[in-house]
Amino acid sequence: MRTHYINIAASITLLMFGMWSKSLRADQVQCTSNEILIESSSSENFIYVCDAVKDAAHFFQSAGLPMPSKLVILLENETSPLVHSNEIGHYNARLRTIVIKNYGPTTSQSKESETNLWSIDSLPFWKSYIVHELAHAAIHEGCDQACPSRAIHEYVAAVAQFSVLPEQYRSRILDTHPNLDAFENDSEITELYYALNPHYFAIKSYKHYQQQTNPKAYLKMRLSPR
Ligand SMILES: [Zn+2]
Repeated sequence: MRTHYINIAASITLLMFGMWSKSLRADQVQCTSNEILIESSSSENFIYVCDAVKDAAHFFQSAGLPMPSKLVILLENETSPLVHSNEIGHYNARLRTIVIKNYGPTTSQSKESETNLWSIDSLPFWKSYIVHELAHAAIHEGCDQACPSRAIHEYVAAVAQFSVLPEQYRSRILDTHPNLDAFENDSEITELYYALNPHYFAIKSYKHYQQQTNPKAYLKMRLSPR
């Protein structure tokens, strides 16, 4: 509804200057303090996406990652051809676009999947997926010619995603597999492991990151061209 949209948009505090902002359309908003546009046919969840962007910025700062700029986050319906039926979302580096299923459809999808450890039945989980994709964008932002392997991409994205979850939500996942230890060394962080079990990979990555005496330095080392 148009009136509803205007109220929500106003509450998010739009930036109204610069080339990027001038291109805002009726179905877009821009969160405060960054150049990330959110696009959706419904304004319902705009404010939560801006929350996720803020959470991501906080984590990136602590981890020494750049905040991605001039990026679009597209919230899509469950039937959208832009997202595969078995994914929550993805980042397209060429188009500088994150495509993510909107909260309602994502929720219904996850309830159908009993084996999904990361059941997306709440806003914090949904928002954490936005942060996951923002982490992929942040890594791309920081690597021009020599980008890290997919395994490192997913390691950082998983750490970012876990880090922004409220404690009770993070525990819900970690407690499900109390015997799943951290990666013991860098050679275990592989694309093969990720492909075999992305959820285990995420848990082991987060635990591994937590064990680092200087997490920021570790990420800098892993993200540097070798
Ligand atoms: Zn990922």
